[in-house]
Amino acid sequence: MDDSPVRKALPGFRWERVERLRYKAEGSAPFRAVTRQVLFGGGELRSEWRYFEVAPDGHSTLERHEHAHAVMILRGRGRCLVGARVHDVSEHDLVEVPPLAWHQFRAAPDAPLGFLCMVDRERDRPQLPGPDDLAALRRIPEVASFIRTGDDDA
Ligand code: MN
Repeated sequence: MDDSPVRKALPGFRWERVERLRYKAEGSAPFRAVTRQVLFGGGELRSEWRYFEVAPDGHSTLERHEHAHAVMILRGRGRCLVGARVHDVSEHDLVEVPPLAWHQFRAAPDAPLGFLCMVDRERDRPQLPGPDDLAALRRIPEVASFIRTGDDDA
């Protein structure tokens, strides 16, 4: 039944009647090996709940924006940049990304990184780092060795 309130879980972190989408349009921002599924969006809620999955060694875009993210790691492990710090993350960890904090998620070389991410439905567009932002981030050694901006991607 297409209007059932229940969409059953399927193998491989899929759900009934949830399309697996590209993370972003190709070429719109640097990222690697990320898919997006919108689990809840539209309807009465003022938020959206998405599931992103980063394949082993892949990464999300290095970005910031006025809206916040509430994240729960659901699958695998990796690391994330939030602000000026890099953190190890694994299943069921919770990650808060505050407004205007630079952030990027990377999967481990040998494991995917799947995470739930809640956002406001009405939200500003992500900003990408400019040369000055990158210079400031790269002055922090652990951040410099972590971030991927597209130029340095294989
Ligand atoms: Mn973001």
